[in-house]
Amino acid sequence: MTRLPVANRELIRAINRSSVLNLVKTHGPLSRTGVARLSGLSPATVTDIVAELIGERLVYEKEPGDSTGGRRPILLAINHTARYAIGIKLMEQQIIAALTDLSATVLAGITQPLEDGQSLDRAVQALATAVETLVEQAGAERQKLVGVGVGLAGVVDSARGVCRYSPVFSWRNAPLRDLLQARIGIPVYLDNDVNTLTLAERLFGAGQGVDDFLVVTVGRGVGMGIVVHGQPYRGTRGGGGEFGHTVLDPNGPLCGCGKRGCLEAYVSDPAILRMAREALARGEIALAAQDLTAPRLVELACAGNQPLQSVFRQAGQMLGLGIANLIDVFSPRLIIITGEGVRAGDLLFRPMRESIHRHAFADLADDAAIVIQEWGDDAWARGAASLVLQEFFRSPIEGGVGIPQGLA
Ligand SMILES: [Zn+2]
Repeated sequence: MTRLPVANRELIRAINRSSVLNLVKTHGPLSRTGVARLSGLSPATVTDIVAELIGERLVYEKEPGDSTGGRRPILLAINHTARYAIGIKLMEQQIIAALTDLSATVLAGITQPLEDGQSLDRAVQALATAVETLVEQAGAERQKLVGVGVGLAGVVDSARGVCRYSPVFSWRNAPLRDLLQARIGIPVYLDNDVNTLTLAERLFGAGQGVDDFLVVTVGRGVGMGIVVHGQPYRGTRGGGGEFGHTVLDPNGPLCGCGKRGCLEAYVSDPAILRMAREALARGEIALAAQDLTAPRLVELACAGNQPLQSVFRQAGQMLGLGIANLIDVFSPRLIIITGEGVRAGDLLFRPMRESIHRHAFADLADDAAIVIQEWGDDAWARGAASLVLQEFFRSPIEGGVGIPQGLA
């Protein structure tokens, strides 16, 4: 009998470890017998790997629950606080950072102001400071921190850790991942912010177990994340998903990107503010200066301001038109709508749903469930932390780094 080379044996052991850990994560609490049955590994191998995972405090034995008699099996569960991840959303004027456990539950968060016109070097410095401040404030042990995920708007080549284009910071081909990693000495992962939200939905949210779905974000801009066959679709060099800049009317209003009639120029917060100002200029509504914020316009519309209701109606109709086009192209099982803009609720989404059904081809819209996701301030940072958690749970067979050894 030939013996496998040491490197292969180590790889197989790492793959088995990952398989056991993921089964307990997905199906736990689970007995050792259950793990063996689901994984196809021998009971002896399972016992061995479980002992190692318990030794590293990644897995623990739960108190046996009530039973109808007979010997109760000991159940295994993930110890979610055995490791931590940090997620950061890098924005124009601030950094939002969150520390999460292994289930992406936010344990602590900070918001740090950022000056306008950041140079790459100063942004990296600010990110490093945010990591240190958060670790300190949360009282977390630094050696339990497995990585830092960073999400930002723009075109990001996640595999290379490079921001190819940031409209906010005017960066081109900025090697943000390597610069930050060198500064803090912890693995760093980088992606477009909407992709990080999509990942959080896939791993921990409404997208769990759904093979084909889209995430549409509305708020400061309009973005989209795409999951096809259970995997993110990013397009060539990370450029896919620019749903907000699909043109609905070439003679429409000017968009921030320089083109006319992009969806974003009808639906984003700045677009809704612009439409409100136009209604004000036409004398259709009376608004005070302090009313010209997106949350305040929602309040006024909800309180019965009809011209403002019609502004949201128009935005909702355009959003529905854009989504009907997406349904025709992808025929997804699920569309998750999220972002700061969901605060508008039915003002936006009732006309959106009508518009989807009016414009989608045949009965394709009936196949796509639409979920409006409640928005929390830490959602972006939690999404960025999911980049780290994905890597932590990824099997070496999928090209993941596996579970860092000896961190317990
Ligand atoms: Zn545009």
